Amino acid sequence: MTLQIPFDNSYSRLPERFYTRQDPAPVKAPSLIAFNQALAQHLGITPGSEEEMAQIFSGNALPDGADPLAQAYAGHQFGGFSPQLGDGRANLLGEVARNGDRFDIQLKGSGPTPYSRMGDGRAWLGPVLREYVLSEAMHALGVPTSRALAATLTGEQVFRETGALPGAVLTRVARSHIRVGTFQFFAARRDIAGLKDLFEYVVDRHYPDVAGPHKLLQAVMARQAELVAQWMSLGFIHGVMNTDNTTLSGETIDYGPCAFMDTYQPDTVFSSIDMHGRYAFANQANVIVWNMAQLATALVPLMPDQDEAVEEFTKTVHAMPEQVHIAWRKRFGQKIGLADASVEDEPLIVSLLDKMAANRADFTNTFRALSDGKARDQFLDPGDFDTWETEWSRRLEQEQDPASSMKEANPVYIPRNHRVEQMIQTALSGDFAPFHRMLDVLSDPYQPRDDARDLARPPEPSEVVQQTFCGT
Ligand code: AMP
Ligand code: MG
Repeated sequence: MTLQIPFDNSYSRLPERFYTRQDPAPVKAPSLIAFNQALAQHLGITPGSEEEMAQIFSGNALPDGADPLAQAYAGHQFGGFSPQLGDGRANLLGEVARNGDRFDIQLKGSGPTPYSRMGDGRAWLGPVLREYVLSEAMHALGVPTSRALAATLTGEQVFRETGALPGAVLTRVARSHIRVGTFQFFAARRDIAGLKDLFEYVVDRHYPDVAGPHKLLQAVMARQAELVAQWMSLGFIHGVMNTDNTTLSGETIDYGPCAFMDTYQPDTVFSSIDMHGRYAFANQANVIVWNMAQLATALVPLMPDQDEAVEEFTKTVHAMPEQVHIAWRKRFGQKIGLADASVEDEPLIVSLLDKMAANRADFTNTFRALSDGKARDQFLDPGDFDTWETEWSRRLEQEQDPASSMKEANPVYIPRNHRVEQMIQTALSGDFAPFHRMLDVLSDPYQPRDDARDLARPPEPSEVVQQTFCGT
């Protein structure tokens, strides 16, 4: 059987300054680590032999219909603006269109491009497996996200701070890789024609019902507000919410030093390069507003009356914190069994979170245990939970079916950071069994399994991972 990807490319028809045509760089000895059959089927992709898939998903051979390119973009990184970023280690092979949806097929770690700056264009095995597991877990948790179609080893070494490591390539699938930074790329150059082409492309691809830049801004804000509230409701920390990692589609992309929290601490930061906690857990709600302000700024040049646009867009952006807050309240309300939490319910949510923080309670397991009556065991001082529970029980009397609402909002399994790290270490010794097992268990994260209790367990003190590294 021959691998067939039914390409239907559109980005490569945009003007030349949107990208650089660039083939992936060949590698020495590719081998296939994983291929996502279910996703392939969903995309209408016919699998090929293992050997053929290793060649194609490592970038050694091009599938029929591919039109590889590296996308140009800009972006604010930790608040500082870089007018020239772009795919420094990725190649968009092309797109597949299915049932009205369109998906990018992209290789990540597939060699240098004109946007590589000082980088080698490569990825090592650790971040490739991390992104594979986390993105697939997020999908199963119901979060809009890029996905993983395949992972390969290159048979070559890459060099990072810690020394030589096995090189790997991830094939990722996303509704697009268009970022706030893609708009900033054209706005920064005062390339109004490019900005207009991009705007029309995005509306056509992602928001066909939207008319005009202001409506686009509002539509993207609505999706991003939901997305960040959903991240927070699962204890997810993206880690690098730069504007070049914030999509127009409203999907999570660019899993770098991201992680899920174990004990609930709202100021948790994992990324080793996030010195000031800009992208700390709780700050994600603020940062997304800041990022949308950058999108607004980049859209202003499209407006006939720019002064008026600045005024209007500013009002819209100022309304976003409330939008995020409402989405947050809805999600956290569901986590404690309230179908539609109101403003009056907020103190109940906040007081539980405060008690969890004070008691070093495990975020995921505490919420899940609410429906089993075992949550108090998660608290250093169980009496602290009991006082909250009295109030909570009173409020639950008004709810129809709190138990099932809670079970749907509170997963049993998340990709725990210490498990992800252990899985990577084991893979480095050549054993991919824990990687495949994590994928399997995390594909159904709301369903407890007797044979996977260990994956629901928080880390022992000696297992706690303090930092995740950007040296991807
Ligand atoms: P990230 O922090 O992964 O979103 O990457 C930020 C920018 O750095 C993007 O333009 C990437 O393409 C680029 N980049 C990251 N790692 C590498 C690498 N190993 N080689 C070349 N470019 C890279
Ligand atoms: Mg990025």
